[in-house]
This record gives sequence, structure tokens and C-alpha cells, in this order.
Amino acid sequence: MTLVAGTLSAYRAAALERDAPLWSVFLAEEAAQSGRDPSALEALMRERIRVMRQSAARGLGNPQMSRSGLIRGGAHRMAAWMDSGASLLGPAFTRLAATALAVAEVNACMGRIVAAPTAGACGVLPAALFTVADEKGRSEEELVRAFFTAGGVGLVIEHLASLSGAEGGCQAEVGSASAMAAGGLVELMGGTPLQVDHAVAFALSNVMGLICDPVQGLVEVPCVYRNAMGAANAVVSAEIALAGVESAFTADQVIETMGRVGRRIPEEFRETARGGLASLPAPGCDSCRGACGNA
Ligand code: SF4
Repeated sequence: MTLVAGTLSAYRAAALERDAPLWSVFLAEEAAQSGRDPSALEALMRERIRVMRQSAARGLGNPQMSRSGLIRGGAHRMAAWMDSGASLLGPAFTRLAATALAVAEVNACMGRIVAAPTAGACGVLPAALFTVADEKGRSEEELVRAFFTAGGVGLVIEHLASLSGAEGGCQAEVGSASAMAAGGLVELMGGTPLQVDHAVAFALSNVMGLICDPVQGLVEVPCVYRNAMGAANAVVSAEIALAGVESAFTADQVIETMGRVGRRIPEEFRETARGGLASLPAPGCDSCRGACGNA
């Protein structure tokens, strides 16, 4: 099979030409690139999903406390908030944010996560896709397909721009995860390849220019909370696209623009922990509460 490898518009054209859904084009591409059987790749994806669900359950069920003291069980607290019935937009939205926090907190506490596309942005995809799949009663098979579309979007971003905060700022990391999740959500809900394109374009446009500024050089603050923002942005972008609203620019255009913007972001805003929030005075013992062992 000829590889499509490249732009989202090329993958969309291949889907049209083969009269096949976008997820299957991405799966065929992955099979061709890796030399693996598609059924083996589907089994691998199921395993990844299982690990993601474990991470989410761990973060929601037990307060995650990082060694730095910057992370102190936020997801667990949000789960209690959701159970109290006080959610601003209902339990599904709170679960979305709490799941993103949960997985990102497990990462901050050195637990097992799936770095999709990176460890820093690991909470976005599980939060967005699990929450909507559970809410809408989607099957495991539909979820697997949605993850293949999300992965394919990541492949395009990696090809046209970057998935690295050190290269392109947080727009390339949490922003890319958000765009991948937005595309996956459209797939999950039976949208068209063109709607996937619009959702990806909306999601990445919304975070254009977002810098990377991890406090103390740790993937904790603001990273964990940006995962929740990324998940919410994915849902919003997918919803807008599924409603039939069209992006002014194609996903490929927005991705390439993100890449160009990323290359012009000054170095102090690209994971060096020298700019943005990372330039503020380090949170003191009041924040740490002795967790660092220096108090
Ligand atoms: S701020 Fe930097 S380290 Fe943190 S999630 Fe964003 S890109 Fe990753």
C-alpha cells in the first residue's frame, strides 16, 4: 500500500478515494509504517486504553501528592466536588476536568501513564474521549477507532509542526493533544472527515501561541491544569464542528502556522523553566508543606 504520510487533507482524500472511514486510513498507514498486522495494532490500542483507564481511576480514587508539594490531590478533590452535586455544568463536565487532572497528576507523581502524545499532555485524550464515550454509551470498538483518528492527527502534527513543548511551546504539547482529542471525538460521534479537519483546526487555533513555562522545571504547574483546559477545548471544538460550523482555515494551515509560531517563541518560553509562571518566585514552604523534606 502507498503511504499517505503527510497532511490531514491527504488522509481525507485517501478516505474519500477508498470510500473508507478516516480511522481505517490511519490504521492502514500505521500498519504499513510499522509492518504490524492491523489486528495486532488494535489489540495494542486496547491495552493502551486499559492503562489510561487505570491511571484515571488511580488519580480520582487516591489523592496524588507530588514530591515537590505542588500537586496535592486535586483530582480526588474534584471527584468529591462532583459527587456533592455542586458542578457548574453538571457531573459530565466536572468528570472531564477531574479525569484530565487525575491522569496528569499520576504522571507528576511518577505513576504509569500513556504519553499520548507526550507525558506532559497525557490527561487530555483520556479525559475527552472516555468522558464523552461513557456519557454517550459508545462501545469499546468505537473508542478504539476514535483513538486511531486521534493518533493520526498527532502523526500529521508531528510531520507538519511539532509535538514538543521544548520545540514549540505548550501549544505544541497540550494544544496538539487537544487537537488530537477533538478529531477523535468527531470520529467517536460519527462525524465526517471534513468535520474532523474543522475540529482539529478550531482546537489548535484556540491555543495558538501558548507558551511552555513549567514551574521549577517540573511537569506539574501549570501542566496539570492545562490538561483540563485541553480536554475542555477538545470537547468545545468537536461540538462546534459537529454542529456544522466550519473553520476559516484548514487543519493543515493551522498546524503549519502553529509550527511557525513555535519556532519564533523565545527560548525562555520553551520548557527552559525561565519564563512565564516559571519566572515567579518559587512557591515556599506554605505550598510545599514539608513535602520537599527541606522544611
Ligand atoms: S507547560 Fe510545558 S511542560 Fe507543562 S504541559 Fe505545557 S508543554 Fe508540557
